[in-house]
Amino acid sequence: MTTEPMTSDEMIQTCLEHTMFSWTATGKVSPLPIARAEGVYMYTPEGKRILDFNSQLMCVNVGHGHPKVIAAMKQAAEGLTYVFPGAATEPRARLAKRLAELCPGDIDTFFFTLSGAESNENAIKAARLFTGRFKILSSYRSYHGATNACMQLTGDPRRIHNEPGSPGFVHVMPPWPYDYSFGDDEEQITAQHLRYLEETIMYEGPETIAAMFVETVTGTNGILPPPKGWLQGLRALLDRYGILMVCDEVMCGWGRTGKLFAVEHYDVVPDILTMAKGLTSSYVPLGAMGVRRKIAEHFREHVFWGGLTYNAHAYACAVALAAIDVLVGEGMVENAAKQGAVMREEMDRLIAKHPSAREGRCIGLFGMMDVQKNAAGESIAPYNGTHPAMGRLAQFFRDEGLFTFVRWGSFMCNPPLCITEEQLREGFAIIDRGLDITDEVYEG
Ligand code: PMP
Repeated sequence: MTTEPMTSDEMIQTCLEHTMFSWTATGKVSPLPIARAEGVYMYTPEGKRILDFNSQLMCVNVGHGHPKVIAAMKQAAEGLTYVFPGAATEPRARLAKRLAELCPGDIDTFFFTLSGAESNENAIKAARLFTGRFKILSSYRSYHGATNACMQLTGDPRRIHNEPGSPGFVHVMPPWPYDYSFGDDEEQITAQHLRYLEETIMYEGPETIAAMFVETVTGTNGILPPPKGWLQGLRALLDRYGILMVCDEVMCGWGRTGKLFAVEHYDVVPDILTMAKGLTSSYVPLGAMGVRRKIAEHFREHVFWGGLTYNAHAYACAVALAAIDVLVGEGMVENAAKQGAVMREEMDRLIAKHPSAREGRCIGLFGMMDVQKNAAGESIAPYNGTHPAMGRLAQFFRDEGLFTFVRWGSFMCNPPLCITEEQLREGFAIIDRGLDITDEVYEG
């Protein structure tokens, strides 16, 4: 029996009728119909081409439909797909060995999950079991996942709707808060912030704190690389009090910042590194928690009280190996660094041209631009708020075939790491025209 492909309208109507969408009331969502995707482009059923300027959720790092990954998927499907997590399999063995080679320092042992949130959930658990302490520190400007504990670990306002959530989480302001500062230059910010953090640790009681979670480079909350010396200072501070350092690289890992892992920019080895998204370039769901030798040794003697039906899923592990081969083998990490320089240039060009363009931040192909309402640099949309012009900008991007996220007073610039210079400039040409909309409401 053959079934006719659905039109855009049929897809939209049926999805709205029978499915729930994330972070939205179903009655308010207007889903983007996508029938196929290739490289940096997606296509609607009617053939409209859309430039993917956000790698979906910053996760399709090698680009869509890569023939080598697809071929590996077909081959893997004919081999082993699923066996129980107590089994030893070749994909599990090979992937873990490959990750041990690629991860920083002595992070050489892995617990496989299905997502970023599950990786962080298990990192919370591992930190508590390893230290015998229960509190977890994290930053207000952070996102760590939508499961119950990860929502509480998350600092951004999405957390509030899930409260009271789980106990034991303490939030601190990050070194780059929004509209105020810990100092005038990066050294001062780092020094002041670490002092503030140490005081917080003392007031909470260091003997109660198992770990601090940080996004090595903050993702959805602003694409914020840490100020100079901060991550190194944090490592030393946490070591002083026996607190584990967990770097969440779910979004910033796997080449996004122009290095395989973002911690490589700062020469720091966390105790636990969590990942997902780019691990398989999201061809299939897979996440992992990587731990240093001392933690791995601990769990050789002590039970790791956790498990998942799909832990170390053989098919997903095989697909991850293929996606990593493509990412590393085709030089996409280096390309992210190279095209990151083009992104920087384009952002600077737009800031010089458009009065409403306030700031652009990027590290590799991890980028975001902020929009301002006046010469004083005030954000066009208040923190955790919206402005009608940002809605119009989002609609313009959609109409013009540019896929990205517009949130508060900012929009994302995170294309797949295989993007060419020409394709990148094609995206910024659309943004250039879009910023005319926000210029119109600029108050001078
Ligand atoms: N950590 C970070 C830094 C993330 O950006 C995300 C997802 N955007 C998560 C964790 C959660 O990952 P997932 O949605 O796969 O659970």
